[in-house]
Amino acid sequence: MLIDFHFHAFSDKIAERAIGVLRDNCGVEPLTDGTLDMALRLFDEWGVDKAVLLPIATKPAQQRIINDWAVSVRSNRVISFGTVHPDAEDLFEEIHRIKSLGLKGYKLHPDYQGFFINESRLEPMLSELEAMEMPVVIHAGFDPVSPELVHCTPQAAADMISRHPKLKVVLAHMGGNDLWEDSYEHLCGLGGEVYLDTAYSYDVPDDLMLKMIRRHGSERVLFASDCPWQSSVNMVRKLEKIGLTGKELDNIFWQNALRLLGNALDKP
Ligand SMILES: [Zn+2]
Repeated sequence: MLIDFHFHAFSDKIAERAIGVLRDNCGVEPLTDGTLDMALRLFDEWGVDKAVLLPIATKPAQQRIINDWAVSVRSNRVISFGTVHPDAEDLFEEIHRIKSLGLKGYKLHPDYQGFFINESRLEPMLSELEAMEMPVVIHAGFDPVSPELVHCTPQAAADMISRHPKLKVVLAHMGGNDLWEDSYEHLCGLGGEVYLDTAYSYDVPDDLMLKMIRRHGSERVLFASDCPWQSSVNMVRKLEKIGLTGKELDNIFWQNALRLLGNALDKP
């Protein structure tokens, strides 16, 4: 089984515009037209059985409408997370609504949502998310939308985690896009419920990738592509060639995801 823990798609109505804006922001050619249909067609080609959809509200007013859409498209195959915006007036209400709607976790994007992960104003929100006992995926490291300023460095993430030891946190991009040495030093090996995902991590040097996974433990690394920005199959091939054992690959490809999502998923 293969579970991709990190991909993006948009409602058909806004897909074309959204993917165009993101392409211009990041200068990377997307692999899909932004629609869920096209992502699912690629997952067929790539052998991905299930995938975690991570929506992002870039404005507070978008949370509810995006979360309702995420509910409407979930399936046996698409595991939808919810999005919350720290500046929303109904932030706490939405944190609870997401759980009651049956969405499986939360996504935060510090660069698109304008906050630093270890700011004190976030503490009430992070405590509430910790109490929900569902995974929280956080964009970590460099993002082209904010090239001069990284809003979630590995050091800042470690600082935040020290105050929220029970938070089931998934630090995307191996703990810090383009900051992998810092991630190795400050995040890999942290105990508790700290996970790293492999989204958009194709450029991590192979020997460093292996070192990071071994230090952190393959039980807490999640296979992820960041589709439409990178392909799942390329990440599978990378992980298969860096020297991991079959047991470690099974953990990363699906077992950890299944455990984190509550073992409640139907078999594909
Ligand atoms: Zn992403």
